[in-house]
Amino acid sequence: MKLLEERIQQDGRVLGDDVLKVDNFLNHQVDPQLMAQLGHEFAELFRAEKIDKVLTVESSGIAPAVFAALDLDVPMVFARKKKSLTLSADNYTADVFSFTKQETNHIIVDKRFLNAGERVLLIDDFLANGQAVQGMMEIVEAADAELVGAGIVIEKTFQKGRALLDEAGIHVESLARIAAFEDGQVVFAD
Ligand code: 5GP
Repeated sequence: MKLLEERIQQDGRVLGDDVLKVDNFLNHQVDPQLMAQLGHEFAELFRAEKIDKVLTVESSGIAPAVFAALDLDVPMVFARKKKSLTLSADNYTADVFSFTKQETNHIIVDKRFLNAGERVLLIDDFLANGQAVQGMMEIVEAADAELVGAGIVIEKTFQKGRALLDEAGIHVESLARIAAFEDGQVVFAD
């Protein structure tokens, strides 16, 4: 998606060999106009799949996921990373090793919000090693729901997540695909 690539070129900052910082439009400050456009793009890419629910992980997946859900006219559920007093005891959980934080998070979805047979679209901000998407896949499977595909805002093709999801036969759509970081600059795939 050209608009997103331009925004990454304009505002993204490369950290070290493999991390992109996009905290002024996606990961901290959020650009709602851009998020609405990303959400619309995901909705167009997956509309034919008759989605019942959009699932993401807090916090950075929420903005693009909610706009995709708005456009598809379905609910959006975000997996929580921390237990809360308000969370019921009846949950689906999965362990996710965080690439950026280098720690394992327990992701949690209340069983009331994911039902057997529902057609679920996963959304996340980044695809690196595929751990977040895999954790959400485990939760979808545990709920006996049906995984329709994964929409990713920014995929880093040089990390192993995409290959993992391709092997699992998952329909993945990424709005920007980064092939490499070279001398602090982003090189897009294709
Ligand atoms: P994965 O689970 O695919 O290894 O990593 C995806 C998760 O790690 C995303 O949910 C995102 O929060 C975080 N992440 C991975 N790579 C990057 C990156 O280059 N920049 C930022 N800001 N987050 C990333």
